[in-house]
Amino acid sequence: LTAARQAAARAYELDRRHVFHSWSAQAQIDPMTISASQGCYVWDGEGNRLLDFSSQLVNTNIGHQHPKVVAAVQQQAAKLCTVAPQHVNDARSEAARLIAERTPGELNKIFFTNGGAEAVEHAVRLARLHTGRHKVLARYRSYHGGTETAINLTGDPRRWPNDHGNSAVVHFFGPFLYRTQFHAGDESEETERALAHLEQTIAFEGPSTIAAIVLESIPGTAGIMIPPPGYLAGVRALCDKYGIIFIADEVMSGFGRTGKWFAIEHFEGVTPDLLTFAKGVNSGYVPLGGVAISPAIAATFDNRAYPGGLTYSGHPLATAAAVATITAMADEGIVENAAEIGARVLGPGLRELAEHHPSIGEVRGTGVFWALELVRDRATREPLAPYGGTSAAMTEVVAACRAAGLLMFVNFNRLHVVPPCIVSEAEAKEGLAILDRALTVADQHTS
Ligand code: PLP
Repeated sequence: LTAARQAAARAYELDRRHVFHSWSAQAQIDPMTISASQGCYVWDGEGNRLLDFSSQLVNTNIGHQHPKVVAAVQQQAAKLCTVAPQHVNDARSEAARLIAERTPGELNKIFFTNGGAEAVEHAVRLARLHTGRHKVLARYRSYHGGTETAINLTGDPRRWPNDHGNSAVVHFFGPFLYRTQFHAGDESEETERALAHLEQTIAFEGPSTIAAIVLESIPGTAGIMIPPPGYLAGVRALCDKYGIIFIADEVMSGFGRTGKWFAIEHFEGVTPDLLTFAKGVNSGYVPLGGVAISPAIAATFDNRAYPGGLTYSGHPLATAAAVATITAMADEGIVENAAEIGARVLGPGLRELAEHHPSIGEVRGTGVFWALELVRDRATREPLAPYGGTSAAMTEVVAACRAAGLLMFVNFNRLHVVPPCIVSEAEAKEGLAILDRALTVADQHTS
């Protein structure tokens, strides 16, 4: 064994003995070791190189080990590692400016958190205090984070064991034409009926009790379902009509993932009141999230204390990483690259795969944000794994990808193609070629 392999084996042994993992039955997992990373690649404990089509948890938008971000963290560490949140710090100030310049409309005040779930927690708290109302509406097929409020907003089975019946969250169905809840035949019917359903939910829950509607601008983990034209504008109009705060969760979809700085920019004229971000803001080099706040909501706390805070709000290492990340993304055309690779390589490439793989039920996405909906039967659309579960077929496809050097993001019956925004045409094609071979495994499970 080389020294590196020995170190990896030791890390694995200690992990299994002492580390308690997220979302897992601890005795049933065999976690993969990652010992190095660069650009769009990672190396496992045996030294195998894998193309990272997952961007880890869809967060390394700028790729792994970007030299300018690494240098910024190193320089900030040498200069000033930490300050209490009440003090001014140049890294935090500059990060807030760079973020505020990119958020839609006038969302110009930034409250920093350590990650996405906390951003969602604080967005909901801001909305509740601003409106004096308590209920929050969120959609089924969504993910908003693992903390108490965020997991109860989440519309997937991970909510169930965390739902103690006191979250004041009400779920509704969002638009998803491929698996329509509304018996819609096309996108315009889906939009119209999904909005009617939402308005009826508001009416039956009582508009005067509803503080906020929380929506991922484009739902990520739940399946990358791009809202049909008019839907988000319709949600905005309903929020205005009933005095409800519109919270756009851009934790996964923000900072270049969809080929724009924020996914909401794909929907002209739609500005949320609060926008949550994390992940791509600094590609996770140091934990960071936050909420961008409208002037009206910010003004609520001009002469009234905001009852919330964190020791590490706007941590210098995290915000210095954000400054370097956003600056490099702008200087190097990284958001434009995500748009271009999506439009020219990934979109056409994935649609071509769908032509000869019967296991692909639908291809959807934009930028470097794509989902393959895998099915047993194209006619019935029966998923290759049940909602909330997995299957031998899904496990085999993912293993085939991994064996061929491709790391995928998986959720139930879906494979998500979510490489870093820096992915080159050659890398995208390399991943597509591996997927092409791996999908023959899924095809064997179709009827
Ligand atoms: N919101 C969305 C849309 C997410 O995708 C995630 C994480 O995947 C979160 C919130 C939670 O973020 P974090 O895991 O940083 O708490």
